[in-house]
Amino acid sequence: MSETAAERAETAMADALGLIATTPHLLVALDFDGTLSQTVDSPQKARALPEAQAAVLRLATTAHTSVALVSGRSMESLVEVAQVPDMVLLVGSHGVEYRVDGASDVQLTAAETEMRGLVHTILDEVAAPYASVHVEEKPAGFALHTRLATDDETSAVLASARSRIEAETTGVTERVGKDVLEFAVRSDTKGDAVKHLRSLTGATAVFFAGDDVTDEDGFLALAPGDFGLKVGPGETAAAFRVAGPPEIAHVLDDLVELREHLGRA
Ligand SMILES: [Mg+2]
Repeated sequence: MSETAAERAETAMADALGLIATTPHLLVALDFDGTLSQTVDSPQKARALPEAQAAVLRLATTAHTSVALVSGRSMESLVEVAQVPDMVLLVGSHGVEYRVDGASDVQLTAAETEMRGLVHTILDEVAAPYASVHVEEKPAGFALHTRLATDDETSAVLASARSRIEAETTGVTERVGKDVLEFAVRSDTKGDAVKHLRSLTGATAVFFAGDDVTDEDGFLALAPGDFGLKVGPGETAAAFRVAGPPEIAHVLDDLVELREHLGRA
């Protein structure tokens, strides 16, 4: 009997995983929401699946292996939900904020601070008529959350925010995510984060996984010999795909087994 396309994809993924596990220094960079955790209505209640959390901690203590969580959340929010020790590198706000060896900060210029204040005023004003729309503070900007809004409300509030940001601000970058539209005075992406983490850790190969449109910047920063893993449906530049967080936990488990086995060999 011939292999199905799904079986071939699974074999290709297992082969690539086996290969990346042999790299001298591995960087495992992971999105948090929708990748390690299931998406929940209340963002502060999100937690990694226990099996995903266990695999992350095992990888972080494996020799010649660095682990980073790369999130669109602010650092403060990521620290709260991720609950990982300092040995796990954290990247917040899509690459604007880093926690390395437990220390983190982001310094805006006076002009950036002023522009960020203007973004805040505009988003507060456009969100004010909608009880279902929430404005989240980010270190380099603000985000509109529309998860609880109707489609009509979402279209109206996003159109209004976009036109006012365009008319009244300069140098502000827009980022679209699932049920979130963010405006920031810094334009760092997860691609910048992957490049920075690669050089920071001296990684010889990068494993990167994520579920959202902003993770595509991360996939595009990967090179031959790296491993890109898309979580869930949607177009992607990643070479491989799994259905959801439980499957990510399995892949990370396989990766840590392969990596630990090499250490003992
Ligand atoms: Mg995500």
